[in-house]
Amino acid sequence: MRKQIVAGNWKMNKTFSEGIDLINQIIEKSSSVKDVQLIVAPPSILTNEAAKYLENKNIGLAGQNCANHSQGAYTGEVSAAMLKSAGANYVILGHSERRAFYHETDEKIREKIKLCLENNLRPIVCCGEVLKERENNEHFEIVAKQIKGMFEGISAEEFKNVIIAYEPVWAIGTGKTATPEQAQEIHQFIRETIKNSYGSEIANNLSILYGGSCKPSNAKELFTKPDVDGGLIGGASLNADDFIAIANSF
Ligand code: PEP
Repeated sequence: MRKQIVAGNWKMNKTFSEGIDLINQIIEKSSSVKDVQLIVAPPSILTNEAAKYLENKNIGLAGQNCANHSQGAYTGEVSAAMLKSAGANYVILGHSERRAFYHETDEKIREKIKLCLENNLRPIVCCGEVLKERENNEHFEIVAKQIKGMFEGISAEEFKNVIIAYEPVWAIGTGKTATPEQAQEIHQFIRETIKNSYGSEIANNLSILYGGSCKPSNAKELFTKPDVDGGLIGGASLNADDFIAIANSF
């Protein structure tokens, strides 16, 4: 059966020493977590050092983004191969902040997905609508379009390594959370969409995470929904107790 996953997206937070401190707190507290894959996504400057602390700890390590080129004259970028060589095994791709602030398109995200898969990194691929689209009842259409654009040309064999995160943009960092019913409805739709492209076995094995102001006080009711397989956590992942409490909410 599909894996339950709780992944922490630290975004651009924590200095080097603060980051290592948080990694160590998470390691220490993670002994209470059973049958849930924890993943941490620190800023890329911390990836290699975090990998040393996480060795043999059964906590995944993710990049927050990677370049859409394999190497070359792309100042400031970090490639999938670099993340892999630094010890990462996952990469968050297509986060709404990347789409909004760095103009990432579904096509660009698809290039990144390909590079991650070629480098044996599992992509955690984000989708989700903005507030206006939700108010206009366009969220299904938007998510379907994002999924089509991001996974076009990705084979079933490749897709087996993909994780999807549904993150309604209006819920990210706003304190507003999708209701468990809203989350279930669209997660089910995502699974159905994947089933239509890749078949039911792959769709049933796909972990679909919810992201958007998920915290210890609301994780339990979200995670009871059958198509919600965990969370991609922003703000609450910066506190080890909250992050672990979310993982213990299944
Ligand atoms: C995110 O950015 O992926 C996220 C879900 O953030 P937050 O939990 O802070 O809303």
